[in-house]
Amino acid sequence: MTAEIISIGSELTTGAKLDTNSQWLSRELAAAGISVGFHTTVADDLDTNVDAIATAVNRADVVLITGGLGPTRDDLTREAIAKMLNAPLELHEPSLEFIRSLFARFKREMPQRNQVQAMFPRGTEPIPNLRGTAPGIWAEIPRDNGRSDCLLAAMPGVPSEMYEMFFSQVRPNLQERIGGARFIRSARVNCFGPGESQAEQWLGDLTARGRDPEIGITVSKATITLRITAHGRSGEECELKIQDSKSLIYERMGTAVFGEEDDELQHILIKILTERGQTLATAESGTGGLLAHNLTEVAGFESAYLGGIIAPTSRAKTELLDVDADCLRTHDTVSAEVAEAMAEGCRNHFGSDFALAVTECPPYDPDRKKDGDNDVPTAHIALAGPDGTVSRKLNLGGDPGIVKARIAKATMNLLRLSLMDALND
Ligand code: ATP
Repeated sequence: MTAEIISIGSELTTGAKLDTNSQWLSRELAAAGISVGFHTTVADDLDTNVDAIATAVNRADVVLITGGLGPTRDDLTREAIAKMLNAPLELHEPSLEFIRSLFARFKREMPQRNQVQAMFPRGTEPIPNLRGTAPGIWAEIPRDNGRSDCLLAAMPGVPSEMYEMFFSQVRPNLQERIGGARFIRSARVNCFGPGESQAEQWLGDLTARGRDPEIGITVSKATITLRITAHGRSGEECELKIQDSKSLIYERMGTAVFGEEDDELQHILIKILTERGQTLATAESGTGGLLAHNLTEVAGFESAYLGGIIAPTSRAKTELLDVDADCLRTHDTVSAEVAEAMAEGCRNHFGSDFALAVTECPPYDPDRKKDGDNDVPTAHIALAGPDGTVSRKLNLGGDPGIVKARIAKATMNLLRLSLMDALND
Protein backbone atom coordinates (compact mmCIF):
# COMPACT_ATOMS: atom_id res chain seq x y z
CA MET A 1 0.00 0.00 0.00
CA THR A 2 1.66 3.17 -1.23
CA ALA A 3 0.36 6.70 -1.07
CA GLU A 4 1.18 9.78 -3.10
CA ILE A 5 0.59 13.35 -2.01
CA ILE A 6 0.08 16.02 -4.65
CA SER A 7 0.31 19.67 -3.67
CA ILE A 8 -1.15 22.01 -6.24
CA GLY A 9 -0.32 25.69 -6.50
CA SER A 10 2.09 27.97 -8.35
CA GLU A 11 2.82 29.68 -5.02
CA LEU A 12 4.46 26.37 -4.03
CA THR A 13 6.43 25.69 -7.23
CA THR A 14 7.74 29.27 -7.34
CA GLY A 15 8.97 28.97 -3.77
CA ALA A 16 6.74 31.79 -2.49
CA LYS A 17 5.09 29.34 -0.05
CA LEU A 18 6.46 26.28 1.66
CA ASP A 19 4.54 23.04 1.11
CA THR A 20 3.81 22.10 4.69
CA ASN A 21 0.66 20.13 3.79
CA SER A 22 2.69 17.25 2.34
CA GLN A 23 4.85 16.99 5.44
CA TRP A 24 1.80 16.99 7.70
CA LEU A 25 -0.10 14.46 5.60
CA SER A 26 2.92 12.15 5.35
CA ARG A 27 3.16 12.00 9.13
CA GLU A 28 -0.56 11.42 9.55
CA LEU A 29 -0.62 8.70 6.90
CA ALA A 30 2.37 7.01 8.52
CA ALA A 31 0.60 7.08 11.88
CA ALA A 32 -2.40 5.47 10.17
CA GLY A 33 -0.19 2.71 8.76
CA ILE A 34 0.00 3.97 5.16
CA SER A 35 3.47 4.69 3.86
CA VAL A 36 4.02 7.51 1.43
CA GLY A 37 6.07 6.74 -1.67
CA PHE A 38 5.83 10.02 -3.55
CA HIS A 39 5.45 13.77 -3.03
CA THR A 40 4.55 15.75 -6.13
CA THR A 41 4.20 19.52 -6.36
CA VAL A 42 2.63 21.08 -9.43
CA ALA A 43 1.91 24.58 -10.69
CA ASP A 44 -1.57 25.87 -11.55
CA ASP A 45 -1.63 24.47 -15.08
CA LEU A 46 -4.41 22.17 -16.24
CA ASP A 47 -2.43 19.73 -18.39
CA THR A 48 0.35 19.43 -15.82
CA ASN A 49 -2.25 18.66 -13.16
CA VAL A 50 -3.98 16.05 -15.31
CA ASP A 51 -0.62 14.36 -15.99
CA ALA A 52 0.41 14.44 -12.34
CA ILE A 53 -2.90 12.98 -11.14
CA ALA A 54 -2.91 10.26 -13.82
CA THR A 55 0.66 9.25 -12.92
CA ALA A 56 -0.20 9.14 -9.23
CA VAL A 57 -3.36 7.06 -9.75
CA ASN A 58 -1.32 4.59 -11.75
CA ARG A 59 1.52 4.17 -9.26
CA ALA A 60 -0.08 4.75 -5.86
CA ASP A 61 -3.03 3.10 -4.10
CA VAL A 62 -3.96 6.24 -2.19
CA VAL A 63 -3.68 9.74 -3.69
CA LEU A 64 -4.21 12.80 -1.52
CA ILE A 65 -4.38 16.17 -3.27
CA THR A 66 -4.37 19.57 -1.56
CA GLY A 67 -5.07 22.97 -3.09
CA GLY A 68 -6.78 24.31 -6.18
CA LEU A 69 -10.37 23.87 -4.97
CA GLY A 70 -11.16 27.57 -4.70
CA PRO A 71 -13.55 29.49 -6.93
CA THR A 72 -11.01 31.36 -9.03
CA ARG A 73 -9.82 30.60 -12.56
CA ASP A 74 -6.46 29.30 -11.39
CA ASP A 75 -8.13 26.72 -9.11
CA LEU A 76 -8.05 23.73 -11.44
CA THR A 77 -8.18 20.61 -9.30
CA ARG A 78 -11.80 19.60 -9.97
CA GLU A 79 -11.35 20.23 -13.70
CA ALA A 80 -8.11 18.24 -13.74
CA ILE A 81 -9.73 15.25 -11.98
CA ALA A 82 -12.67 15.41 -14.41
CA LYS A 83 -10.34 15.49 -17.42
CA MET A 84 -8.21 12.66 -16.05
CA LEU A 85 -11.37 10.54 -15.48
CA ASN A 86 -12.80 11.64 -18.79
CA ALA A 87 -15.99 12.54 -16.91
CA PRO A 88 -18.12 15.70 -17.14
CA LEU A 89 -18.47 18.12 -14.23
CA GLU A 90 -21.96 17.99 -12.75
CA LEU A 91 -23.70 20.28 -10.29
CA HIS A 92 -24.29 18.83 -6.82
CA GLU A 93 -27.33 20.71 -5.51
CA PRO A 94 -26.85 20.00 -1.75
CA SER A 95 -23.28 21.37 -1.96
CA LEU A 96 -24.54 24.48 -3.76
CA GLU A 97 -27.17 24.97 -1.07
CA PHE A 98 -24.52 24.61 1.62
CA ILE A 99 -22.25 27.20 -0.01
CA ARG A 100 -25.21 29.59 -0.45
CA SER A 101 -26.13 29.17 3.22
CA LEU A 102 -22.59 30.05 4.26
CA PHE A 103 -22.75 33.31 2.32
CA ALA A 104 -26.25 33.99 3.73
CA ARG A 105 -24.93 33.52 7.24
CA PHE A 106 -22.51 36.39 6.60
CA LYS A 107 -25.32 38.39 4.94
CA ARG A 108 -23.60 38.29 1.58
CA GLU A 109 -24.82 37.21 -1.80
CA MET A 110 -22.94 34.27 -3.27
CA PRO A 111 -20.89 35.39 -6.27
CA GLN A 112 -21.78 33.40 -9.40
CA ARG A 113 -18.18 32.20 -9.57
CA ASN A 114 -18.55 30.18 -6.33
CA GLN A 115 -21.05 27.87 -8.02
CA VAL A 116 -18.07 26.08 -9.54
CA GLN A 117 -17.22 24.77 -6.05
CA ALA A 118 -20.42 22.70 -6.15
CA MET A 119 -19.41 21.00 -9.42
CA PHE A 120 -18.01 17.46 -9.22
CA PRO A 121 -16.70 15.04 -11.82
CA ARG A 122 -19.35 12.38 -12.51
CA GLY A 123 -18.76 9.28 -10.39
CA THR A 124 -17.04 11.18 -7.54
CA GLU A 125 -18.48 12.31 -4.20
CA PRO A 126 -18.26 15.62 -2.36
CA ILE A 127 -16.47 15.71 0.97
CA PRO A 128 -18.19 18.31 3.19
CA ASN A 129 -15.97 21.16 4.33
CA LEU A 130 -16.86 22.23 7.88
CA ARG A 131 -14.36 25.10 7.93
CA GLY A 132 -14.71 26.79 4.53
CA THR A 133 -16.63 26.98 1.29
CA ALA A 134 -14.74 24.47 -0.88
CA PRO A 135 -15.96 20.87 -0.48
CA GLY A 136 -13.38 18.19 -1.15
CA ILE A 137 -13.65 15.43 -3.75
CA TRP A 138 -13.63 11.69 -3.04
CA ALA A 139 -13.11 9.18 -5.84
CA GLU A 140 -12.54 5.44 -6.07
CA ILE A 141 -10.89 4.90 -9.41
CA PRO A 142 -10.86 1.45 -11.03
CA ARG A 143 -7.48 0.29 -12.40
CA ASP A 144 -6.54 -2.41 -14.84
CA ASN A 145 -4.60 -5.67 -14.32
CA GLY A 146 -6.78 -6.72 -11.40
CA ARG A 147 -5.42 -3.97 -9.16
CA SER A 148 -7.57 -2.56 -6.36
CA ASP A 149 -9.29 0.79 -6.91
CA CYS A 150 -7.11 3.83 -6.29
CA LEU A 151 -8.59 5.88 -3.42
CA LEU A 152 -8.32 9.59 -4.17
CA ALA A 153 -9.20 12.56 -1.97
CA ALA A 154 -8.82 16.20 -3.01
CA MET A 155 -8.83 18.62 -0.08
CA PRO A 156 -8.53 22.41 0.29
CA GLY A 157 -5.06 23.94 0.40
CA VAL A 158 -5.76 26.03 3.50
CA PRO A 159 -4.07 23.95 6.22
CA SER A 160 -6.75 24.31 8.93
CA GLU A 161 -9.51 23.28 6.48
CA MET A 162 -7.42 20.38 5.23
CA TYR A 163 -6.59 19.07 8.74
CA GLU A 164 -10.25 19.03 9.71
CA MET A 165 -11.34 17.30 6.52
CA PHE A 166 -8.59 14.72 6.80
CA PHE A 167 -9.37 13.79 10.41
CA SER A 168 -13.16 13.84 10.22
CA GLN A 169 -13.67 12.25 6.81
CA VAL A 170 -10.70 11.25 4.71
CA ARG A 171 -8.86 9.17 7.29
CA PRO A 172 -11.98 7.24 8.41
CA ASN A 173 -12.85 6.61 4.74
CA LEU A 174 -9.36 5.29 4.03
CA GLN A 175 -9.35 3.08 7.09
CA GLU A 176 -12.75 1.67 6.22
CA ARG A 177 -11.72 0.85 2.64
CA ILE A 178 -8.26 -0.46 3.45
CA GLY A 179 -9.65 -2.54 6.31
CA GLY A 180 -8.25 -2.93 9.81
CA ALA A 181 -6.35 0.10 10.92
CA ARG A 182 -2.58 -0.34 10.78
CA PHE A 183 -0.25 1.69 12.91
CA ILE A 184 3.33 2.82 12.48
CA ARG A 185 5.58 4.03 15.28
CA SER A 186 9.21 5.05 15.08
CA ALA A 187 12.06 5.70 17.50
CA ARG A 188 15.68 6.85 17.25
CA VAL A 189 18.80 5.58 19.00
CA ASN A 190 21.89 7.80 18.76
CA CYS A 191 25.47 6.51 18.74
CA PHE A 192 28.94 8.02 18.55
CA GLY A 193 32.28 6.37 17.84
CA PRO A 194 32.07 3.89 15.00
CA GLY A 195 31.74 4.93 11.36
CA GLU A 196 28.64 4.10 9.35
CA SER A 197 29.95 0.86 7.83
CA GLN A 198 31.37 -0.29 11.16
CA ALA A 199 27.97 0.29 12.76
CA GLU A 200 26.29 -1.63 9.97
CA GLN A 201 28.66 -4.53 10.57
CA TRP A 202 27.96 -4.57 14.30
CA LEU A 203 24.22 -4.45 13.72
CA GLY A 204 24.37 -7.35 11.25
CA ASP A 205 20.95 -8.74 10.32
CA LEU A 206 19.16 -5.96 12.23
CA THR A 207 19.50 -3.65 9.23
CA ALA A 208 18.24 -6.24 6.71
CA ARG A 209 15.67 -4.91 4.27
CA GLY A 210 12.13 -6.02 4.93
CA ARG A 211 12.78 -6.69 8.64
CA ASP A 212 9.97 -5.64 10.96
CA PRO A 213 10.75 -3.34 12.65
CA GLU A 214 12.96 -1.81 10.01
CA ILE A 215 16.22 -0.27 11.26
CA GLY A 216 17.80 2.42 9.09
CA ILE A 217 21.14 4.18 9.62
CA THR A 218 21.71 7.88 9.04
CA VAL A 219 24.80 9.92 9.87
CA SER A 220 24.90 13.59 10.72
CA LYS A 221 28.23 15.20 11.66
CA ALA A 222 29.64 11.87 12.87
CA THR A 223 26.60 11.06 15.03
CA ILE A 224 25.01 7.82 13.89
CA THR A 225 21.26 7.62 14.27
CA LEU A 226 19.44 4.30 14.09
CA ARG A 227 15.81 4.85 13.17
CA ILE A 228 13.48 2.02 14.13
CA THR A 229 10.12 1.85 12.32
CA ALA A 230 7.57 -0.68 13.52
CA HIS A 231 4.22 -1.63 11.96
CA GLY A 232 1.38 -3.17 13.93
CA ARG A 233 -2.35 -3.37 14.61
CA SER A 234 -2.10 -1.07 17.62
CA GLY A 235 0.24 1.52 19.03
CA GLU A 236 1.11 -0.86 21.89
CA GLU A 237 2.09 -3.64 19.51
CA CYS A 238 4.42 -1.22 17.70
CA GLU A 239 5.93 -0.04 21.00
CA LEU A 240 6.67 -3.61 22.08
CA LYS A 241 8.42 -4.35 18.80
CA ILE A 242 10.44 -1.15 19.18
CA GLN A 243 11.52 -2.12 22.70
CA ASP A 244 12.74 -5.52 21.45
CA SER A 245 14.77 -3.90 18.68
CA LYS A 246 16.20 -1.31 21.04
CA SER A 247 17.47 -4.05 23.36
CA LEU A 248 19.25 -5.71 20.44
CA ILE A 249 20.75 -2.40 19.33
CA TYR A 250 22.06 -1.64 22.83
CA GLU A 251 23.54 -5.14 23.02
CA ARG A 252 25.34 -4.88 19.70
CA MET A 253 26.41 -1.21 19.76
CA GLY A 254 27.49 -1.29 23.42
CA THR A 255 28.87 1.96 24.82
CA ALA A 256 28.63 3.65 21.41
CA VAL A 257 24.96 4.29 22.23
CA PHE A 258 24.68 7.59 24.06
CA GLY A 259 21.03 8.60 23.83
CA GLU A 260 17.67 8.51 22.13
CA GLU A 261 15.42 10.79 20.07
CA ASP A 262 16.80 14.39 20.14
CA ASP A 263 19.59 13.67 22.65
CA GLU A 264 23.03 15.05 21.74
CA LEU A 265 26.23 14.19 23.58
CA GLN A 266 26.15 17.47 25.49
CA HIS A 267 22.69 16.68 26.94
CA ILE A 268 23.89 13.34 28.20
CA LEU A 269 27.11 14.76 29.61
CA ILE A 270 25.40 17.57 31.54
CA LYS A 271 22.80 15.08 32.81
CA ILE A 272 25.37 12.58 34.12
CA LEU A 273 27.53 15.29 35.71
CA THR A 274 24.51 16.92 37.35
CA GLU A 275 23.34 13.59 38.75
CA ARG A 276 26.80 12.97 40.16
CA GLY A 277 27.15 16.51 41.49
CA GLN A 278 30.36 17.01 39.48
CA THR A 279 31.60 19.89 37.36
CA LEU A 280 33.35 20.45 34.05
CA ALA A 281 35.35 23.21 32.34
CA THR A 282 36.81 23.38 28.82
CA ALA A 283 39.91 24.72 27.07
CA GLU A 284 39.83 24.98 23.31
CA SER A 285 42.19 25.91 20.57
CA GLY A 286 41.12 24.49 17.19
CA THR A 287 37.40 24.22 17.93
CA GLY A 288 37.33 27.90 18.83
CA GLY A 289 34.58 27.66 21.42
CA LEU A 290 32.37 25.05 19.76
CA LEU A 291 32.62 22.78 22.77
CA ALA A 292 31.51 25.64 25.05
CA HIS A 293 28.75 26.52 22.60
CA ASN A 294 27.41 22.95 22.61
CA LEU A 295 27.50 22.65 26.39
CA THR A 296 25.84 26.00 27.03
CA GLU A 297 22.96 25.03 24.73
CA VAL A 298 21.72 22.52 27.29
CA ALA A 299 18.98 23.80 29.60
CA GLY A 300 20.32 23.91 33.17
CA PHE A 301 23.98 23.55 32.09
CA GLU A 302 25.02 25.87 34.94
CA SER A 303 24.77 23.06 37.48
CA ALA A 304 27.62 21.19 35.79
CA TYR A 305 29.50 23.41 33.34
CA LEU A 306 31.64 26.10 34.94
CA GLY A 307 33.04 27.77 31.83
CA GLY A 308 35.57 27.64 29.04
CA ILE A 309 38.72 29.30 27.78
CA ILE A 310 39.60 29.75 24.12
CA ALA A 311 43.36 29.60 23.77
CA PRO A 312 44.40 29.40 20.13
CA THR A 313 47.81 31.09 20.68
CA SER A 314 50.86 30.22 22.77
CA ARG A 315 50.39 33.43 24.74
CA ALA A 316 46.80 32.55 25.61
CA LYS A 317 47.89 29.06 26.61
CA THR A 318 50.57 30.33 28.96
CA GLU A 319 48.70 33.33 30.35
CA LEU A 320 45.19 31.88 30.66
CA LEU A 321 45.88 28.19 31.16
CA ASP A 322 49.27 28.43 32.80
CA VAL A 323 50.78 26.01 30.26
CA ASP A 324 54.52 25.87 30.85
CA ALA A 325 56.48 27.85 28.22
CA ASP A 326 59.00 24.98 28.05
CA CYS A 327 56.23 22.55 27.20
CA LEU A 328 55.20 24.76 24.27
CA ARG A 329 58.83 25.13 23.13
CA THR A 330 59.64 21.43 23.22
CA HIS A 331 56.38 19.97 21.92
CA ASP A 332 54.34 20.45 18.81
CA THR A 333 51.20 22.56 19.38
CA VAL A 334 49.27 19.49 18.17
CA SER A 335 50.56 16.96 20.69
CA ALA A 336 49.42 14.89 23.63
CA GLU A 337 51.66 16.93 25.97
CA VAL A 338 50.10 20.27 25.04
CA ALA A 339 46.54 18.85 25.17
CA GLU A 340 47.18 17.44 28.63
CA ALA A 341 48.81 20.63 29.90
CA MET A 342 45.83 22.64 28.63
CA ALA A 343 43.36 20.31 30.37
CA GLU A 344 45.27 20.43 33.67
CA GLY A 345 45.66 24.22 33.50
CA CYS A 346 41.95 24.59 32.82
CA ARG A 347 40.97 22.30 35.69
CA ASN A 348 43.15 24.35 38.07
CA HIS A 349 41.81 27.64 36.75
CA PHE A 350 38.15 26.73 37.26
CA GLY A 351 38.57 24.35 40.19
CA SER A 352 36.30 21.88 38.38
CA ASP A 353 36.20 18.10 38.82
CA PHE A 354 36.97 17.60 35.13
CA ALA A 355 38.43 19.62 32.29
CA LEU A 356 38.41 18.82 28.60
CA ALA A 357 40.95 20.29 26.17
CA VAL A 358 41.40 20.45 22.40
CA THR A 359 44.63 21.42 20.62
CA GLU A 360 44.87 23.10 17.25
CA CYS A 361 43.19 21.30 14.39
CA PRO A 362 43.48 21.80 10.65
CA PRO A 363 41.56 24.82 9.38
CA TYR A 364 38.67 24.11 7.01
CA ASP A 365 40.06 23.33 3.57
CA PRO A 366 37.52 21.92 1.12
CA ASP A 367 40.30 21.02 -1.35
CA ARG A 368 42.22 18.93 1.13
CA LYS A 369 42.91 15.43 -0.06
CA LYS A 370 40.53 13.05 1.71
CA ASP A 371 42.07 10.18 3.61
CA GLY A 372 45.46 10.25 1.84
CA ASP A 373 47.60 7.96 4.00
CA ASN A 374 50.34 10.46 4.72
CA ASP A 375 48.07 13.40 4.74
CA VAL A 376 45.50 12.76 7.46
CA PRO A 377 45.47 15.80 9.75
CA THR A 378 45.28 15.21 13.48
CA ALA A 379 44.21 16.89 16.68
CA HIS A 380 44.80 15.88 20.29
CA ILE A 381 42.16 15.98 22.99
CA ALA A 382 42.64 15.50 26.71
CA LEU A 383 40.66 14.92 29.86
CA ALA A 384 41.96 15.96 33.29
CA GLY A 385 40.09 14.60 36.30
CA PRO A 386 40.50 13.45 39.90
CA ASP A 387 42.19 10.24 38.70
CA GLY A 388 44.75 11.92 36.47
CA THR A 389 44.96 13.04 32.86
CA VAL A 390 44.48 11.09 29.65
CA SER A 391 44.67 12.14 26.02
CA ARG A 392 43.72 10.79 22.61
CA LYS A 393 44.98 11.44 19.13
CA LEU A 394 42.21 12.00 16.57
CA ASN A 395 42.81 11.22 12.91
CA LEU A 396 40.71 13.67 10.98
CA GLY A 397 40.29 12.06 7.58
CA GLY A 398 36.90 12.32 5.91
CA ASP A 399 34.73 15.33 5.27
CA PRO A 400 36.71 18.49 6.18
CA GLY A 401 33.41 20.37 6.59
CA ILE A 402 32.55 18.52 9.79
CA VAL A 403 36.02 18.33 11.38
CA LYS A 404 35.31 20.75 14.21
CA ALA A 405 31.93 19.22 15.03
CA ARG A 406 33.59 15.80 15.12
CA ILE A 407 36.38 16.94 17.43
CA ALA A 408 33.92 18.60 19.80
CA LYS A 409 31.85 15.41 19.91
CA ALA A 410 34.89 13.15 20.35
CA THR A 411 36.02 15.34 23.25
CA MET A 412 32.66 15.14 25.03
CA ASN A 413 32.58 11.42 24.31
CA LEU A 414 35.97 10.97 26.01
CA LEU A 415 34.48 12.21 29.27
CA ARG A 416 31.21 10.31 28.78
CA LEU A 417 33.09 7.01 28.35
CA SER A 418 35.31 7.70 31.32
CA LEU A 419 32.27 8.44 33.51
CA MET A 420 30.65 5.22 32.31
CA ASP A 421 33.82 3.26 33.12
CA ALA A 422 33.78 4.73 36.61
CA LEU A 423 30.16 3.69 36.94
CA ASN A 424 30.97 0.11 35.97
CA ASP A 425 34.00 -0.20 38.26
P1 ATP B 1 -9.42 28.25 -1.17
O1 ATP B 1 -10.80 27.79 -0.89
O2 ATP B 1 -8.88 29.11 -0.06
O3 ATP B 1 -9.22 28.86 -2.51
P2 ATP B 1 -7.85 26.12 -2.25
O4 ATP B 1 -8.10 24.68 -2.10
O5 ATP B 1 -8.08 26.70 -3.58
O6 ATP B 1 -8.56 26.89 -1.10
P3 ATP B 1 -5.35 27.26 -2.58
O7 ATP B 1 -6.02 28.48 -3.12
O8 ATP B 1 -4.54 26.44 -3.47
O9 ATP B 1 -6.37 26.34 -1.87
O10 ATP B 1 -4.50 27.69 -1.32
C1 ATP B 1 -5.06 28.49 -0.29
C2 ATP B 1 -3.96 28.85 0.70
O11 ATP B 1 -3.63 27.67 1.44
C3 ATP B 1 -2.65 29.28 0.07
O12 ATP B 1 -2.55 30.66 -0.04
C4 ATP B 1 -1.63 28.80 1.03
O13 ATP B 1 -1.45 29.78 2.03
C5 ATP B 1 -2.24 27.59 1.66
N1 ATP B 1 -1.70 26.40 1.03
C6 ATP B 1 -2.07 25.81 -0.13
N2 ATP B 1 -1.38 24.70 -0.38
C7 ATP B 1 -0.52 24.56 0.66
C8 ATP B 1 0.49 23.60 0.99
N3 ATP B 1 0.73 22.53 0.22
N4 ATP B 1 1.19 23.77 2.13
C9 ATP B 1 0.93 24.84 2.93
N5 ATP B 1 0.00 25.77 2.68
C10 ATP B 1 -0.72 25.65 1.56
